[in-house]
Amino acid sequence: MKVTKKIVLEEHDMPTRWYNIVADMPNKPLPMLNPTTKQPTTKEEFEVLFSKGAAEQEFSTERWIDIPDEVRDLYRIYRPTPLVRASGLEKALDTPAKIYFKNESVSPVGSHKLNSAIPQAYYNKIQGIKHLTTETGAGQWGSALSIASKHFGLDLTVFMVKVSYEQKPYRKSVMHTYGATVIPSPSMTTGIGRQFNQDYPNTAGSLGMAISEAVEQALNQPDTRYALGSTMSHVCLHQTIIGEEARKQMEIAGDYPDIVIGCFGGGSNFAGISFPFMRDNLVNGAKTRFIAAEPASCPKLTRGQYAYDFGDAQGVTPLIPMYTLGHGFQPAAIHAGGLRYHGAGSYVSQLAHDGYIEGRDVNQLDAFKAGILFSQAEGIIPAPESTHAICVAIQEALKAKEEGTEKVILFNLSGHGLIDMASYDRYFAGDLNNYIVPQELIDENVNDLMKL
Ligand SMILES: *Cc1c(COP(=O)(O)O)cnc(C)c1O
Repeated sequence: MKVTKKIVLEEHDMPTRWYNIVADMPNKPLPMLNPTTKQPTTKEEFEVLFSKGAAEQEFSTERWIDIPDEVRDLYRIYRPTPLVRASGLEKALDTPAKIYFKNESVSPVGSHKLNSAIPQAYYNKIQGIKHLTTETGAGQWGSALSIASKHFGLDLTVFMVKVSYEQKPYRKSVMHTYGATVIPSPSMTTGIGRQFNQDYPNTAGSLGMAISEAVEQALNQPDTRYALGSTMSHVCLHQTIIGEEARKQMEIAGDYPDIVIGCFGGGSNFAGISFPFMRDNLVNGAKTRFIAAEPASCPKLTRGQYAYDFGDAQGVTPLIPMYTLGHGFQPAAIHAGGLRYHGAGSYVSQLAHDGYIEGRDVNQLDAFKAGILFSQAEGIIPAPESTHAICVAIQEALKAKEEGTEKVILFNLSGHGLIDMASYDRYFAGDLNNYIVPQELIDENVNDLMKL
């Protein structure tokens, strides 16, 4: 019997609500703290930096949150996204496991990031905000927010991590095409950027530094707010449209996942594919495994500290309860730029702490190797970030083969790699290596943190 290769939903089957997992969490996460007073951050404080809509959702404990019609209208450009049976990969691995992936690479920017960029721009626009600032690593988030900002008539400044600005010039062109201003970070445009340049000459930059710059500019400019592409609970919330669609599609396929896998930067695409299935673990006692695939060079879940830490490198954001490598940690310049972040979002961290999520470290060379096998078996060249999820999916499929079990594996293909070919070229040229963080480097960065 031929397997159905891809399961596509109609536009009218697109979910109308995002799923807010906090409503079902057995242990609620600790509150964010104001860095000065050490008191819980209030919604009003949060609104100084973020849109009111984002603040509302960040603090909401409602299980379901309606997706505004204007947001659903834009989602229709690329949603619902296909669920694909990785039959080619199954064959290449000769595994009895059934492998499915949710293909978020079909969005116009080639990744899941647009799922949160659209609502974030929308909430700013209805509040009368004129300018947005943000950071971007590999450029995926900056590209996504560029599209959404242009659509809703906001102007956007993107601080792009310097190493990515140099490694991925086309991402910058993409942002320019959508009308955004792009500045390599650390820059000389902000006070904190000048400070970073002075303290760390020749730094490759980091997401933490770029966040500090974007935050500074948002706070110092009228009618401006900041938007973040990962980590925060409202971002994870927006991404649950991935898993809500996947639930419907898995049902049509007549399967239910034993294992759900996502690559892990700050946790948003992982949360997006996982949370809607995790609901069954939390509420109905299901036993699905959830594996977060992180780079061995930035291993916050497996080797980080569970502590209160800042979201940025300078220490201006609220203190967030998170698995972290320390906000001063500067990740190696690996080619999965979107995974070069020191911390994990608070819901994901609490759920990992409570045993619902497993972290797994993946080496850069293993990730690229998995990405190339996937490209040849399935035809899609994955983003270097996504190759981490693919690598874990392959490990699990091979384990199923060893055990002779017909496991159902679902992973999120968070993006395609067509603008990342320079990274693939460097892999083919033998220029890349594995980098495993020395324990002392982690220890010295988490030493002073408020441990949980
Ligand atoms: C940004 C990005 C990631 C990592 O971010 P998360 O918030 O952890 O999802 C992963 N994959 C791609 C393609 C990205 O652009």
